Order: sequence, then structure tokens, then C-alpha cells
Amino acid sequence: MELPLPDRLEKLPPYLFADLRRKIAAARARGVDVISLGIGDPDQPTPDPIIDELCRAARDTSDPDRHRYGCDRPVEAWPQAVCDFYRRRFGVRLGPQQVVTTMGAKDAIAKLALATLNPDELAIAPSPGYPTYNIGHVFAGAVTYYAPLLPQNDFLIDLEAIPAEVRRQAKILWMNYPNNPTTATAPLEFFRRAVEFGRQNDILIAQDNAYSENTYDGYEAPSILQVEGADEVAVEFFSLSKAFCMTGWRVGAVVGAEAAVSALRTVKENIDNGTPRPVQFAAARALSMAEELKPVINSIHQRRRDMVVQALNESGWSIAPPRATIYVWAPVPEKYKGSSAAFATDLLERAGVVVTPGLGYGQWSDGFFRISLTYPDDVIEKAVARIVEAGL
Ligand SMILES: *Cc1c(COP(=O)(O)O)cnc(C)c1O
Repeated sequence: MELPLPDRLEKLPPYLFADLRRKIAAARARGVDVISLGIGDPDQPTPDPIIDELCRAARDTSDPDRHRYGCDRPVEAWPQAVCDFYRRRFGVRLGPQQVVTTMGAKDAIAKLALATLNPDELAIAPSPGYPTYNIGHVFAGAVTYYAPLLPQNDFLIDLEAIPAEVRRQAKILWMNYPNNPTTATAPLEFFRRAVEFGRQNDILIAQDNAYSENTYDGYEAPSILQVEGADEVAVEFFSLSKAFCMTGWRVGAVVGAEAAVSALRTVKENIDNGTPRPVQFAAARALSMAEELKPVINSIHQRRRDMVVQALNESGWSIAPPRATIYVWAPVPEKYKGSSAAFATDLLERAGVVVTPGLGYGQWSDGFFRISLTYPDDVIEKAVARIVEAGL
């Protein structure tokens, strides 16, 4: 059967890692022992108390709805846990109409585009950046304007540099701090300026806070909702995936501006049937134990971060240890400037190590590569030793 793809699939950006993936397969076929540090997906198991709560809720015969659609019978425990957490952690008070349960951040990012953008309308996404902002726009038939994240601006979006015509047309401005892939963090003052920008230009600020709890050295990432009046123009994407080693569980929340939360809820009601109830109970347990669970998980990533940064710095790099996320973002060696893909290919050929070339996240990050800290200590140790030894 011939099945011509619709424009929205044809228009998806080419998968920039496809070429690298082919080269990995070829190297493995030649017998090279390939180690990947490419993917950001925590290797540690989900903490036991969360699993215990999942099992309890799944077996709880006193709840006749336990295996039914999660959307029709909302589990009060999860939105309540999100509200409690936001109050405790950020000092932010959320009303019940300001919270919607999601299947993680990715799901909600794409669906927010469907909830807010008409075909041909404009939305702003950071570059380098998480690809799903643009992919959501493509699915909605909308158009992406890319705002560069540059090292000279500490990888913060240069709001003043966004052209007047773009400000007039754009409906959403995506941001993501702590940032993937650059590991940059944003001070509350930046969020204050972003909220002001949103208010002045009538643009919804969509802050992806997927890494707010993956922080080190005592750093605490802010919520954009800490800015006074932010809940009129901003929504925040909160997820348990990275902080609690729960990427496979598919649970999160979008909080903030009621109009956007409500539009997203409408899309979800028409497309998905909600996160499984036992997962919502387990997620509530995770947040209620956040203060206990976070230090354990973060200390693992912090130890690996230190291993990577120390080894690279001893061999000529000068990387400041990131205060957040589960990555190290490093410049490619001088002779590879402007070709992170060539660096990644040579590293694979000469060291059998896979890193993510900056180019995969957009043209402005071609001078960088990303290492993920979600691999066992001994794997990271071996890979970094090989990178150093290859001497590229
Ligand atoms: C991993 C990641 C997500 C997706 O997280 P889920 O909650 O698992 O969907 C969203 N945004 C960024 C920047 C990420 O790195």
C-alpha cells in the first residue's frame, strides 16, 4: 500500500542524529566496543517508595476506579501534591484551575501548540533547544522563529534582540531553564524580564522546568511563577521524569496562566484519556518525599559531573561544573570549531565514544557537544578516559 505522508510528517526536521546512529551501527559491526554518552534518560531505578505506592494503588480494591481512565476520575492526590510542592519549594500558591495533569512535559509541549496556535501563526523557540517546541508548531501548522542562545549571553534568550515584527506576530515564547542542552540556569531577574516581555507583547511565556530539581552545589532553580503577576502570562512545565528517575512513567503537570491551562486541558480531553491512576498516586508520593529523595539522586549525577569535568579540564578543556541538569556541555576542540558533527564522528572512530554534537540542537550550537550523565560511573569513567586518550 502506498501511504503518502501528510505535510506535518514530511515537514518534521530531519533527524540529525540519524547519520550518527548509522555510524554507530557500522562501528559496532566492525567490532568496535562503542560506549554511548548520548542520551539523557536516568539509568537509576525509580526509588522504592514510589514503586510501593504504585503497587498499593494498583491493588487497592477499595478504589473501584483504580484501573479506569485517569482523566474521567481525576486523582485529587496528584494536583494537590503539585500545589503543595509549589508552595513549599517556590512559595507559589496555585488555584485548582491553574493545574493540569500531563503525561510528562513532552506530551504537554506538543499539545500546548495544538491548544494555542492557528496554522501559519508564529511562535518563538530557543536554539539550541529541545526539539519538541518546534515539532509542536509543525503539528499545529505554525511557524517557528528561533531565538539564539549564545555563550556571550550566558545562553539566556536575548529578549531585546527579538525583532519588532516577530514580537507583534508571535503567540508563544518557549524557554527552558535549567537548560538542555547548554546546562545554563536563569536568575529570577531574567524570568522577571521575560514576564514583562510577555505582558508588553501579549505573548504566552512557556517555561519548560523539566530540570528544576536536578541541581547541585546547593543551587535551587527558581520557578517563573515566583515573579509577581507571572500567572497572567506564563505557564510552567513540571515533570518528575529527570528528577525522580521516572522517564517511563509519563507524569507531570502544567501550571500557571489559567487560559492556557484550560486550553491544554481541552486538547487533552479530546486526544488522550489521562495518566493511569496508580501512576498519579505514585507521583504524588514522589513529590511528598522530594526533600528526602532528591539529594540521593542528585549526588549520583553530581559525582559523575565532577568525574567528567575534572578529567576534561585536566586535559586542556576549561569547563565550569554545571549547577543543574544531567549533562555536561563543552566546546569542541579548536580544530573542530564549526563542525561538532566531525568531532563526534572522529571521537566515535578513534575512541569508540558517542557524544551528542551541538549541531543536533541547531546551527548556533555547532561549536559544542553534550555528554549525558545518565550512565553508570564505570561507563562514564571509561568513556572519559578514552576521550582524553584520543587527544583530538
Ligand atoms: C527530557 C526533557 C523533556 C521531556 O520530559 P518528559 O517529562 O519525560 O516528557 C522536556 N523538556 C526538556 C528540555 C527535556 O530535556
